[in-house]
Amino acid sequence: MSRLPAFPVTGGCACGAVRYVLKGSPLGVYSCHCTECQSLTGSAFSLAMSVLRSDFEITKGELAIWLRTADSGAQIPQRFCPTCGVRVFTEPPGGPQSVTVRPGTLDETSWVRPVAAFWTKSAQAWTALPADTLTYETQPTDFAPVMKAWRDWTRG
Ligand SMILES: [Zn+2]
Ligand SMILES: [Zn+2]
Repeated sequence: MSRLPAFPVTGGCACGAVRYVLKGSPLGVYSCHCTECQSLTGSAFSLAMSVLRSDFEITKGELAIWLRTADSGAQIPQRFCPTCGVRVFTEPPGGPQSVTVRPGTLDETSWVRPVAAFWTKSAQAWTALPADTLTYETQPTDFAPVMKAWRDWTRG
C-alpha cells in the first residue's frame, strides 16, 4: 500500500499570494542540519523535498528571488514570497531537472517524512532521528540512496 497521497496536491506560502501544484511523487525527502539551514529557517533544521521540475508548477502569484552563495561558491536561487517572505523552493546547482520544495508549505503534510538527514555534524545535540534514517555527516555526494530510501518507504 502506498503511503503517498493522490496527486496532484497543492501548497503555497503563508499569506496565500503564491500557490503551487505538485503533480507527482517527490524524488526524496530529507532534513538538513547545516548551520546555513538553521539560519535560513530560524530553527534547528530545514525540510527539503526534491521534485521533478516538470511536476511542479506555480499556479498563482510570483516569487521573488535571492541568490544564496554556497560554501562551494555555487549560487543557489532561493524563491520566496515577496509579501510574507516564506521560502517556497530552491533551485539546486546539481540538476536543472529538479527543484527543492519546502514541504512545510504543502496544504497537507501528514505524508511527508524525511528518510535522510544531511549535515548531522552540525545538528543540535537534542535532535533525535528515527533509527532507520539515512544519515550523512555533511552533504551526500550521491543522491541515489536517498531516492531509494524514499521509494522503499512510500511503498509501506
Ligand atoms: Zn506569501
Ligand atoms: Zn542545509
